[in-house]
Amino acid sequence: MKISDLFKKKKVVYSLEIFPPRPTSPIEVVYDALANMKDLNPDFVSVTYGAGGSGPNSRTCEIVSHIKENYDFEPLAHLTCINSEKKDIQDTLQRLQESQIQNILALRGDRNKDGVVANDFLHATELIEYVKQNHTFNIAAACYPEGHPESENLSKDIEYMKMKEDYGAELFITQLFFDNSDFYRFVEKVRAASVRSPIHVGVMPVTNTKQIERILSLSGSKVPHKLSRLLARYGANKEAMMQAGILYATEQIVDLLDNNVQGIHLYTMNSPTIARRITHNIDHMLRLENTVK
Ligand code: FAD
Repeated sequence: MKISDLFKKKKVVYSLEIFPPRPTSPIEVVYDALANMKDLNPDFVSVTYGAGGSGPNSRTCEIVSHIKENYDFEPLAHLTCINSEKKDIQDTLQRLQESQIQNILALRGDRNKDGVVANDFLHATELIEYVKQNHTFNIAAACYPEGHPESENLSKDIEYMKMKEDYGAELFITQLFFDNSDFYRFVEKVRAASVRSPIHVGVMPVTNTKQIERILSLSGSKVPHKLSRLLARYGANKEAMMQAGILYATEQIVDLLDNNVQGIHLYTMNSPTIARRITHNIDHMLRLENTVK
C-alpha cells in the first residue's frame, strides 16, 4: 500500500524507524529488534540507508524485503543518491521493485568526507524526478523545521520542498527537533508556500549524552534549556537519562497531538525498550485520536 494513503485514512499515523546493523554485526540483530517491536502495531517501519554499504546489495534492501515478507505493516526504504552512480541507483530501485517494495524515502544523503564520489544526482529533487519518471513507487522526502544546515535560509529550503512535491513526493518526514514551536512556525510557512502533502514528524528520544553530540553534529538542531538541563542533571546516569529522555520525547509527542499533527515517526535507534516505553505512554491517546476522525 502507498504510505501516503495512510494519511487519508487515519487522523494520526504512527511509525517507527530502524537502521541496518554495522557490516560486522549479523543482520539477525535487527530482525530480533523488529520481532520485539511487532506488537507495537506501527502503521509502517522505515529503514535507513547508508550503514552497511550502499548499492543494490545494501542491507536496507534485505531488511525491507524481510519486513514485506514477514509483517503486516509496510516497509519504507530510505535511498540516498549523492554518493552513488546512476547505475547503482537503477539496480537498487530494480531490486526494491522485485521485492514488491512500494514506498521509498528519496534523499540526497550527506556528502562523503572525501568529497562527492559520483555526481549523477546532486539533490533529492533529481532523484525524485528520476524515480517518478521511471517507476511507480510512492515517494516520501525529507524536510527540516529548523532549516537544513547547508541551506541559505528557511524560505529557500521550503522552495526546494515545494519542488520535491512538484516532482512527485507525496509525503514529507521531518528532521528531528526538540522545540515544537519551531515545527508549528515551519508548518505555517510550508502551507503558505502551497505545499499540500502530509508532514510526518520525526521524534528522537535523547537517552544518552554521546548520542546528543552525534545528533547535533549531523542535524544542527537547537537544544532547548529544558533538555540541556536534563542532560546536565541526569546525563551521567544511564537509567536516569533514559527515563528523562523518554519523558521528554513523550511530552513532545503529547503537545504535537494536541496541536493536530498528522503523524509521529519515532526514531527507535533499534531499541525495542525505548520504542515500547514511548508507545505505551501514548497508545491510548493515539487510539482515541484515530477513532474520532
Ligand atoms: P536535499 O533536498 O537535496 O537538500 C540538501 C540541501 O540542498 C538543502 O540545503 C536544500 O535547501 C538544498 N537543495 C535542495 N534541492 C536543491 C536543488 N534542486 N538545487 C539546489 N539546492 C537544493 N541520510 C542517510 O545517509 N541515510 C538515511 O537513511 C537518511 N534518512 C533520513 C531521514 C530523514 C527523515 C531526514 C530528515 C534525513 C535523513 N538523512 C539520511 C539525512 C539526509 O541525507 C541529509 O540531511 C542530507 O544532508 C540532505 O538530504 P535531503 O534529501 O534533504 O537533500
